Amino acid sequence: MAKIQMKTPLVEMDGDEMTRVLWQWIKDELLLPFIDLKTEYYDLGLKKRDETNDQITVDAANANKKYGVAVKCATITPNAARVKEYDLKQMWRSPNGTIRAILDGTVFRAPIFVKGIEPYVKTWKKPITIARHAYGDVYKGVEMKIDQPGVAELVFTAADGTVTKETIQKFETPGVIQGMHNMSKSIRSFARSCFNYALDTKQDVWFATKDTISKKYDHTFKDIFQEVFEAEYKEKFEAAGLTYFYTLIDDIVARVIRSEGGYIWACKNYDGDVMSDMLATAFGSLAMMTSVLVSPDGNYEYEAAHGTVQRHYYAHLEGKKTSTNSVATIFAWSGALRKRGELDGIKELQEFGDKLEAATIKTIEEGIMTKDLASITTMPKESVTQVNSEEFIKAIRKNLEAAL
Ligand code: NAP
Ligand code: MG
Repeated sequence: MAKIQMKTPLVEMDGDEMTRVLWQWIKDELLLPFIDLKTEYYDLGLKKRDETNDQITVDAANANKKYGVAVKCATITPNAARVKEYDLKQMWRSPNGTIRAILDGTVFRAPIFVKGIEPYVKTWKKPITIARHAYGDVYKGVEMKIDQPGVAELVFTAADGTVTKETIQKFETPGVIQGMHNMSKSIRSFARSCFNYALDTKQDVWFATKDTISKKYDHTFKDIFQEVFEAEYKEKFEAAGLTYFYTLIDDIVARVIRSEGGYIWACKNYDGDVMSDMLATAFGSLAMMTSVLVSPDGNYEYEAAHGTVQRHYYAHLEGKKTSTNSVATIFAWSGALRKRGELDGIKELQEFGDKLEAATIKTIEEGIMTKDLASITTMPKESVTQVNSEEFIKAIRKNLEAAL
């Protein structure tokens, strides 16, 4: 078979530890034999980030803006231990945070469905996609500890000098306060990303906040979503047979549990952080969760939702065989290749993305799986073969070759 040709390069962002090892194996076994792979390569491994004073991350994000589609390997977000381990010049920021700030996007996370890995919630028949707003609120909050009596106030000084004040609390005894913000511009692009992604994937949008209690802050989210929907998306949704549904956050939690799945659940930043971990676990495994950052001007960055699987990497360095699940990383590649094919009008590349995913799912459904899945599968023990990281990728290659 002739290799599939590409037009525009994918922005390839390499990463760290075990996922960096899987990255290379995936390319060698599942991509390079079949595609004349064109990528613009950025090494976001911690060593390179340190060498370039993190400029490489900024360059990678700008390349993502230039070309439209990127695929990213998991990367270490340095903490004090990592600064020591890698002898870093400083504690560099989270690469994902840097990329998000440059692309201004929304993160969509969806579980990969396979037979034999059943969601803990029996009613769920289809994946639930979480759309997490990636800017502001408590993540940009400022906080104070209060340890003496006094008055805490919320003060806004306008550029023209006008002052607006609200009392937060008259403290008699110690306590805490927090100030946070968001921007209408960011909320608007969050709304657009959700509605665009809904049209792209033919799913309804559910959104919830606590607007009954937070009558200005959360209510602004509700109003902006409604405004954007009415002005730009209502007709497109009607034509596609889709709906936009708003309710309260506590109500939506109950509805999600009773639902069949198959929609996009738009979440404010904190809600998305918490709910995506809950969903990933309830659907079976963090290693089966895909993640894509979509910017309002139509740039895509595909990655796995999990981290660099450090513990496995140390075992790997000791020469031990690990049983690390590469599914979410494979799906990052298939998603990026499919999107690239779509944008460039290369049907074979789009189909390759589909076939790679189908071959991966087939492998697991045939009973060949890594340890994390073998330990939770509902398949009978005698039909399960637990394999190591490399064997798993090789088994997928067999199914992929048969499908091509
Ligand atoms: P993690 O790498 O996701 O791993 C947490 C645990 O989950 C692992 O120890 C492993 O459990 C299990 N696990 C995760 N992915 C797996 C896979 N593909 N196959 C099998 N098991 C898997 O999270 P972490 O240990 O908190 O973080 C490690 C590093 O990743 C940190 O430096 C962090 O900064 C970084 N990180 C990066 C991203 C990103 O780039 N998007 C996201 C999160 C974390 P067992 O050890 O029990 O087998
Ligand atoms: Mg989290």
